[in-house]
Amino acid sequence: MADNIYDVIVVGTGAGGGTAMKILCEAGLRVCALNSGPRTDPDKDYRNHRQVYDLKYRGYGDPLRFKDKPHQEPYSVEESEYSEGRDLFEHDVAYSNAPGTDWYWKRCKATGGKANFWGRSSARFGDIDFKAADLDGFGENWPVDYAEIAPWFSKAERYMGVASTIQNRPSNPDGDYLAPIPWRCLDYIIQKGAQKIGVPYLPDRCAQLTVAHEGHPACHYCGNCSRGCEVGSFFSPTWFTIPEAEATKNLTLKTNALVRSVLVDQNGRAKGVAYVDRDARKEVEVSAKVVVLAASCVETAHIMLNSKSRPWPTGIANSSGQLGRNLCEHLYGCPGYGYLPRLLGQPATPDNIADSTVAWMPRWQNLKNPREEKFIRGYSVYMGGGCGEFPGYYSQLEGFGSKFKRDIKRYYPTPIGALIQAPTLPSPTNYVDIDPDKQDIFGIPRLRFHFQWGENELLMWQHSKQVMVDLFKAMGAELWGADVEPNRPGTSLHETGVCRFGNDPKKFVTNKWAQTHDVPNLYICDASIFPNCTDKTTTMPIVAFTMRTCDYMLDNFKKGVHSRA
Ligand SMILES: Cc1cc2nc3c(=O)[nH]c(=O)nc-3n(C[C@H](O)[C@H](O)[C@H](O)COP(=O)(O)OP(=O)(O)OC[C@H]3O[C@@H](n4cnc5c(N)ncnc54)[C@H](O)[C@@H]3O)c2cc1C
Ligand code: SF4
Repeated sequence: MADNIYDVIVVGTGAGGGTAMKILCEAGLRVCALNSGPRTDPDKDYRNHRQVYDLKYRGYGDPLRFKDKPHQEPYSVEESEYSEGRDLFEHDVAYSNAPGTDWYWKRCKATGGKANFWGRSSARFGDIDFKAADLDGFGENWPVDYAEIAPWFSKAERYMGVASTIQNRPSNPDGDYLAPIPWRCLDYIIQKGAQKIGVPYLPDRCAQLTVAHEGHPACHYCGNCSRGCEVGSFFSPTWFTIPEAEATKNLTLKTNALVRSVLVDQNGRAKGVAYVDRDARKEVEVSAKVVVLAASCVETAHIMLNSKSRPWPTGIANSSGQLGRNLCEHLYGCPGYGYLPRLLGQPATPDNIADSTVAWMPRWQNLKNPREEKFIRGYSVYMGGGCGEFPGYYSQLEGFGSKFKRDIKRYYPTPIGALIQAPTLPSPTNYVDIDPDKQDIFGIPRLRFHFQWGENELLMWQHSKQVMVDLFKAMGAELWGADVEPNRPGTSLHETGVCRFGNDPKKFVTNKWAQTHDVPNLYICDASIFPNCTDKTTTMPIVAFTMRTCDYMLDNFKKGVHSRA
């Protein structure tokens, strides 16, 4: 039916999909956006500014909330009693782990996706990342260089509102920033210690509005970001891209629409998608001239691997055989935690202001020589601390009764802890495929993970633990301990690689514009195109690369490569 044909279908409304639909709608195209879960409603979904003792289950949530759900594991900070009851997270669609794999796949299915709750760290990638293969001989270069992508980073930063300072560091290119987030007392102490051991300690690049920005209010530092912002003071699709796309009247947004596969014509070109209408429990098809997949890295590969047809027997646009391969991730874990004795007994101040990414230690290893260390590439570290809502250090203190309570108070401003962000390298053993034996409750074949930590990132993990021993000593801090093992793979939510981009159609799924080599009217707007991880997070780059991809696609519409519906 004619009214069921759109210029573009965008699958997913998160950082990538939301940006794509805003740009395409503003350019006058008729866009149909499909989102697997319900619409996010900040008035109902974010219950910030309440104390845990005001909540029925003290913030932990109803222990029976996952009863009968196929995926029972709770997700962390972002999914709590503060956002309970509205079905924002994916627990109906289960996934598989191959034997020996322990992937933790957190999914926000509501509109806006994970960037409703993200940590906001927003550093640029640089040539040290794009050309890493030239430097150390491992893997593949990216098909872009810094000079080409820098203007898109600027555009993304200006749109999102990223706060930071100019730092002149080779692995951490500077951008267009709002004033930085004010530092906590502990940041100055850590910075002094870090200077003594030759490690940088600098303001992070944080997409949190230190001043009012483009119609969005300045942050009031309530520290509740990971439960969603009630006023829209950090970049999220819910407050930024989605309302802007809807204002054009060119958007049709279908919620609770779980896309199963991309449909193709007899030539193997995309002609639409098939999705499950979760409310009506029926399968529906929708058509368009161009399809954009932005379902978040591994889910985009899942949809493509499930899009089998005569022209594409192993999944759409998979003539390279690389679809689902090269799964990379950040190794996360705490290499050191303890406290700052000099702050003992100081008055408590509400300085847990941004609840994570105020300052960080950008990569300092292997900068002069790519093989200075036992590992190649490098990692970064975030330091947390300050007077948080809950005294998580309670288990480090001994005692009971009123003395214990006094001690909790005395230590309140003192605890600090590190979080390592170490990139994995692509490996033939790390990939996703389709589980041949299992389907989800909608009859869609499940995604299956195969993943092990590699030697390189485990060497970084050991290295970071020694750095923490040195740092704690240098700043006069007491080290309570460190995680024995890294967090489970998947924890960071910065997975990349499964639809990697590059110039050679035999080795890469998409070209440098994120247009699939095999199917010219199929584009990808998420981190699956990045061939590997860096020591930086992925969201601001997803927005920047999406802006660039959409610009290229619009040009293709102008040139007649794509026609309108
Ligand atoms: C607590 C937390 C902290 C984080 N901290 C940072 C940070 O500091 N810096 C950083 O850069 N990143 C951070 N991240 C990660 C960041 O949120 C993601 O990189 C980013 O949101 C990914 O955007 P996306 O659009 O690719 O995917 P998503 O946000 O996952 O959006 C995908 C969308 O697609 C929809 N969808 C999925 N499958 C289907 C389907 N089959 N059919 C239809 N729709 C579908 C979903 O409903 C969702 O709306 C953090 C995330 C969390 C949760
Ligand atoms: S700290 Fe700022 S950005 Fe975070 S939830 Fe509060 S007002 Fe929003």
